[in-house]
Parts: sequence; structure tokens; C-alpha cells
Amino acid sequence: MSLDILTLAAPLENLLLWAFGYFLAIYLSFALLAWIIASLADRPICQRSVTLGQIRGELLRSLRSILLFGAGIAVPWAMVQVGLAGVDAGADVQKVVLDCALLVFWNDLHFYAVHRLLHAWLARAHAVHHKSVAATPFAAYSMSVSEAVLLGSVMPLAMLLREFAWQALLFLPIWSIFINTLSHSNCDLFPRVGQRSILGFIRHHQSHHTHYRGNYGFFFCHLDRIFGTERPFDRQETS
Ligand SMILES: [Zn+2]
Ligand SMILES: [Zn+2]
Repeated sequence: MSLDILTLAAPLENLLLWAFGYFLAIYLSFALLAWIIASLADRPICQRSVTLGQIRGELLRSLRSILLFGAGIAVPWAMVQVGLAGVDAGADVQKVVLDCALLVFWNDLHFYAVHRLLHAWLARAHAVHHKSVAATPFAAYSMSVSEAVLLGSVMPLAMLLREFAWQALLFLPIWSIFINTLSHSNCDLFPRVGQRSILGFIRHHQSHHTHYRGNYGFFFCHLDRIFGTERPFDRQETS
């Protein structure tokens, strides 16, 4: 992979193809991995059965979102071309680690804000994602076009604020898809952890799908605690 691609300096047509392939590869790999883990663990949180039709719909809508995310690389590319943003090609290890951490926190903040917005004013658009009551890993990007555009703004907005290392920009989709597919696995993977544990993120998000209101956070549940939107976890999350 050339540094031109990684620093968004390559021609746009090369970048578009590369970005689409990248998003598709990590979505399919992590969704399949989460599906296998959930099947082996066999500890569903929501007991509602999942049909093949649900999974087919989740897959098709996720593929549409990935096409949009791939096309969306044109935004940071244009920002770099006009000098609105830059990509750090020579960061040392400390800067890469710091940038990864900053993007992980930014991703949670951005997701929480967009998710609250969707529930407050764009409920019809967000209803597409909530078609999955008992979620599956394939629902990670099952969403409307407007929701995909809003969530896809996570990286360009961050790049307006700081020149991130290319390694961190590459890491963000991996982190996001890894957590997103697991949080939609409807699997009580860590049954011994308490409500306050960071490993409660799968229950946290499945509970959001079951009850619709509350638990708007992505990975860290702290924003729901701070803003009073956290739901108490009920071990019998049946619906
Ligand atoms: Zn929601
Ligand atoms: Zn969800």
C-alpha cells in the first residue's frame, strides 16, 4: 500500500476503490467473527428469534452504507487538497498511540451526539436501524442514507481539529467496526461483569435495541451516565 493512499495524496479514483475495499473487508471479517463468537457462546440477551430475511436486510443496508462510506473518502481527500486538513506521515509511536486514543474518544462523543439527534429529530430515518430488535453483527451498518452520512462525518470533523497520524486514521474504522459488530451480537459475552464495567457495552447496546429509549452511547457508557440516559440492565432482556 503506497504512502500516497494512506496520506490521502493519491488520485481520488484510486482512493475511492481502496476505501470501499477496506471498509468492506473489515465489515465482513468482523461481522463474521462476531457471528461465530456469538453462536459459540450461545448466550443471547434478547430472546426474540432472528429470521434469514432480517439478516439479508441488515447485510444489504450495511453494504449500501459501506458504499457511502467509501465514496465519503472524497471529503477528507478534498480537505487535504485545499489545505483545510493534513495527514501526519511521520508520527512517532507516542503520537500514533495518542492519536488512536483521541480518535476512540472522539468517536464515542460523535456517536452519542448523532444518536441523540437521530432519536430527537430524525426518528423516521433512524427507524431503519431499529428494524433489528434482536440485533445481529450484520446490523452494524444497517441504517438509512441520512444516518450513514451523519455517522460518516466522524473522521472529516476530527481532521478539521488536528493533523492525525495516518496509522490512527486507518485504525479508527477497524476499532469502530470491531466494537460495532460485537455490540450488535446480542450475546452476553461477559456475563460476570457488572453494570458499571466497560465490558458491558454489548448489553448496553442490545438493551437500546430492545427498549428503543436510553443507552445512546457507543463503547464507553459514561456519556449515558453523565446525561442521565442510562438504562438499568435487566438480565431478562426478553421482548
Ligand atoms: Zn437508536
Ligand atoms: Zn444499533
